[in-house]
Amino acid sequence: MTHIYPIITIPDPVLRQTAEPVERVDDALRKLMDDMLVTMYDAPGVGLAAPQIGVSRRLIVMDGARDDEPRAPIVMVNPEILERSEELRLHEEGCLSIPEVTAEVERPAITRVAYLDREGKPQEAELEGILSTIVQHEIDHLNGVLFIDYLSRLKRDMIVKKFTKQKRAEAM
Ligand SMILES: [Zn+2]
Repeated sequence: MTHIYPIITIPDPVLRQTAEPVERVDDALRKLMDDMLVTMYDAPGVGLAAPQIGVSRRLIVMDGARDDEPRAPIVMVNPEILERSEELRLHEEGCLSIPEVTAEVERPAITRVAYLDREGKPQEAELEGILSTIVQHEIDHLNGVLFIDYLSRLKRDMIVKKFTKQKRAEAM
């Protein structure tokens, strides 16, 4: 049975931590990958990093397929960016941990990544288009970085303040 996790939202401090490397790709980790994918599709989202479900480990899942295309899940353990193109692409980004907020972010158009796959085998991939944006956004999560960090300080502070107030109100 897969499990849908609640997704953690800002300003939870786990989202600002540097995640620990995964030491072993075993059945327990594969179960976590499956649960993360199910959680991502349920949200729905195109990417999810383990810290977003409160697990501070270097594990990300994503799917860049359009709605009219078959699902194309990708799982990356301990992903590392090897190379970024100089060419940039602009994308209206959102984040499951910052619901209902979107903003245009410019990131390298092509990203070369090294990672371990579902079986723990080392892989390399060159991602472009939406997948280049997603992989950078998700790897940022592993380093405690959020897409709002690319916005002006004023904008970022406004967003964080809104969520902080909301949580305080919920707690009362
Ligand atoms: Zn995100």
